[in-house]
Amino acid sequence: MQESNPIETVSEWIAQAKRIIVFTGAGVSTESGIPDFRSAGGLWDRYDPDEFRFRRFLESEEARKKYWKMHTEIYELFTKVRPNVAHEACVELDRLEKLECVITQNVDNLHTEAGLAPDKVIEIHGNALQVGCLECDARHPRAEVQEWLDAGEEVPLCRKCGGILKPRTISFGQGMPVEEMQESEARMKRCDLFIVIGSSLVVYPAADMPLYAKASGARLVIINMTPTPFDEQADLVIYGKAGDSMGKILERVKQILAN
Ligand code: NAD
Repeated sequence: MQESNPIETVSEWIAQAKRIIVFTGAGVSTESGIPDFRSAGGLWDRYDPDEFRFRRFLESEEARKKYWKMHTEIYELFTKVRPNVAHEACVELDRLEKLECVITQNVDNLHTEAGLAPDKVIEIHGNALQVGCLECDARHPRAEVQEWLDAGEEVPLCRKCGGILKPRTISFGQGMPVEEMQESEARMKRCDLFIVIGSSLVVYPAADMPLYAKASGARLVIINMTPTPFDEQADLVIYGKAGDSMGKILERVKQILAN
């Protein structure tokens, strides 16, 4: 049943909680200026996801050329954007010693840039600001790879072994990172409040996480601009903007904790 003042209810739940997991999707970063995938004007309006499947990337030089072209666009955007109120609210939860961790589907590095320590951010879909070799696993900073692209290389190769380089993000058809999934599972088992912010909850296996946390005993809150397939199972849903909602919530949480 929906509460009459959801901001007040979530704030009270946060004030009571000891181990909160915030689970974020592309919607937490739209207010920073990064379009999401599924809203009108989002990335998939301009790119066909089928062209960027992992298998195609491995098999076709042409696909790799297209991928790096698209990724240059993403990278240029990512170097300009800044964390917003919702990312800062997660840092604030950590300062209040309420945050178990953030589990994010995002690859934009904004939770880290906002100030969360590495052990507080689990990036289940990787990070677009890191590049790895698919053969020898050597790491190359994304900025360095961009210099090679700007100098005319269409498909950059590993400087150590000549292998195929790829941003360290999880493409469609690529396996999920084992360590990050195990760590997420362990932390979900001990969290008492699981807050989804800005995710359509349609990408699996990430979308299984809210119900896993709920089955482990956590309350489930969803803050999203549009309905998700899990709204019925949530203890509370707020249809609103991430920054606006989290800003109000944190302000109220601090008032409650001060009393
Ligand atoms: P999605 O695009 O499927 O869904 C985003 C959801 O956020 C939508 O339901 C939308 O209504 C909502 N939304 C948009 N702006 C919002 C706002 N200001 N406040 C609250 N809600 C808002 O994204 P997803 O669920 O993260 O899944 C898609 C995949 O896309 C993920 O794997 C993610 O890695 C990737 N992705 C990442 C980025 C990024 O790193 N910033 C950007 C685009 C896509």
